[in-house]
Amino acid sequence: METLKLLFLSLALALTAASNAATARSIPDHIHPLRPQLGTSAGRRIPGLNCLSWRLAVEADNIQDWTVVPKECENYVGNYMLGLQYRIDSKFVTGSAYLYAKNLTLGKDGKDVWVFDIDDTSLSNLPYYAQPDTAFGAKPYNDTTFTVWEKQAKAPALPATLWLYKRLLRLGFKIVFLTGRSETFRAVTVQNLHKVGYTKWEKLILKSAEEKAEGLHALQYKSRERTNLVKAGYRILGNIGDQWSDVLGDNVGSRTFKLPNPMFYIA
Ligand SMILES: [Mg+2]
Repeated sequence: METLKLLFLSLALALTAASNAATARSIPDHIHPLRPQLGTSAGRRIPGLNCLSWRLAVEADNIQDWTVVPKECENYVGNYMLGLQYRIDSKFVTGSAYLYAKNLTLGKDGKDVWVFDIDDTSLSNLPYYAQPDTAFGAKPYNDTTFTVWEKQAKAPALPATLWLYKRLLRLGFKIVFLTGRSETFRAVTVQNLHKVGYTKWEKLILKSAEEKAEGLHALQYKSRERTNLVKAGYRILGNIGDQWSDVLGDNVGSRTFKLPNPMFYIA
């Protein structure tokens, strides 16, 4: 009798298990098939500094006042800057800027302006930063060698920015170049801009000797110059730069656009 009871119990348990398995099979898999797979590096913690996280933190202005690219990220930043991703990211920024700009209605007084930073926004200093002595910002900034590079006036245009510049002109915007470059570099800057396709602008604002002597931070200097523009009756509808100090502060404009630059930080 006891044997018979055990037999029935085993049979009941087996039937329940089979029924549960059938229910489980009918529930769809809610986890994406790209979930980290065991036995691969995906999803595992990368030892040391995660350079993608570092770059994201830099671009989001979560890390500030940094002086050099971490040594372990030199190759990562180099590959990013020389590779396709930097160009794609830049194009996304200027593409977004154009989508915004083309839907605006401009005044008829010619006072609607778009502010462009110059270095690593309109002109690219990548040929300079790609040299072993600068190592994409992994070596400390060298004012002497950078000045030599600047004076050569051979920086190429950042293609995404030149594209935006041409379209904004067609839409009727006035262009204002606002740069931390010294006034003494006006001639070489004009020469360089012309050479690569920036041929027309309302104003080219460089840092005067007095402003240089004041020792203002870029953010303060650019804020002041933009405020002067507004006082002169200009409406800053857009503003683009590669540094947070280009797009923060006073009278930044109705919309600001930040281009990527993981090579250096200017306060
Ligand atoms: Mg810049």
